[in-house]
Amino acid sequence: MSFRHEKGVNVQVLLRCRPFSSDELKNNAPQVVTCNEYQREVAVSQSIAGKQIDRVFTFDKVFGPTAQQKDLYEQAVIPIVHEVLEGFNCTIFAYGQTGTGKTYTMEGECKRAKSGPNGELPLEAGVIPRSVKQIFDTLEGQNAEYSVKVTFLELYNEEITDLLAPEEISKVGIEDKQKKLLPLMEDGKGGVLVRGLEEEIVTSASEIFTLLERGSAKRRTAETLLNKQSSRSHSLFSITIHIKEATPEGEELIKCGKLNLVDLAGSENISRSGARDGRAREAGEINKSLLTLGRVINALVEHLGHIPYRDSKLTRLLRDSLGGRTKTCIIATVSPAVHCLEETLSTLDYAHRAK
Ligand code: ADP
Ligand code: MG
Repeated sequence: MSFRHEKGVNVQVLLRCRPFSSDELKNNAPQVVTCNEYQREVAVSQSIAGKQIDRVFTFDKVFGPTAQQKDLYEQAVIPIVHEVLEGFNCTIFAYGQTGTGKTYTMEGECKRAKSGPNGELPLEAGVIPRSVKQIFDTLEGQNAEYSVKVTFLELYNEEITDLLAPEEISKVGIEDKQKKLLPLMEDGKGGVLVRGLEEEIVTSASEIFTLLERGSAKRRTAETLLNKQSSRSHSLFSITIHIKEATPEGEELIKCGKLNLVDLAGSENISRSGARDGRAREAGEINKSLLTLGRVINALVEHLGHIPYRDSKLTRLLRDSLGGRTKTCIIATVSPAVHCLEETLSTLDYAHRAK
């Protein structure tokens, strides 16, 4: 693992390039992205009107089109979940253009699938179900009392809705009145809380698929009703673990760790220059959280005195899990195809700036 300790900031940046889609294959879409996993490099090359673009970016890890969900999990996520089980707060982000595999990476395509007879996960299971499984496998093997709670929320236009809340979204349309918005408040102890957010107690890894399906179904309904809302919304899945251990002296020790798994809004929602210098103009509130996140990570990595957590809901929500003794992992996702070139360069610039 190449978490950077020397500056006291633990931000790891990974790059994942998805395979060609069947449409891209059918249309013989030219490939402009090449991954060298061994060198941890991504090369972008294309000649436009006789002008050749060649750029190479280096990341902490690179996952090419043939990398499996399991590979990414084992190489990048296992150590982070270890930290969480030791009582630290950690965050994993998926960042990239819509259609490049953020949701595939975080959730995977197995929501309806149940885990196998021995509890093994489907091949396509993403980071969320795999983390939950690792957490339960570890806790069940230990002789300690524990509890695991999850929340799943969506942030759209700086407004929070609960993806686990039981009420159904109306088929007619979502007015703000019908879509229950939850307030973000100070908890008086220096943290924040989302009032009314459903906290689901999970007792085994297999329950996670039901929860994911419930949350994603709600997100999908909203998508058709609100014109592709999901490409502009962030989803935040948080797992909080309390472990009660007895010390050899017979004292009680409580460890509390939190893992935040964030499927960010499509990066096409911020402009190229915004991705590069973080100073883009904001179209209303749509991009506020995405832009502020870039500034916060930049400030942490650059060791600036002021970290602008307060400037967006997402960074306020994640304040206790970004910076300090936490670990942050950004998984930047790109397409290999030429028609995504501009956005791919923009994603690579943004992700590279976070290093
Ligand atoms: P996003 O959430 O970034 O908009 P999705 O996760 O919905 O993108 O992915 C778009 C499509 O590409 C989906 O059909 C998904 O199954 C497929 N896909 C993405 N990444 C991969 C991958 N690494 N391997 C196989 N299929 C992928
Ligand atoms: Mg998605």
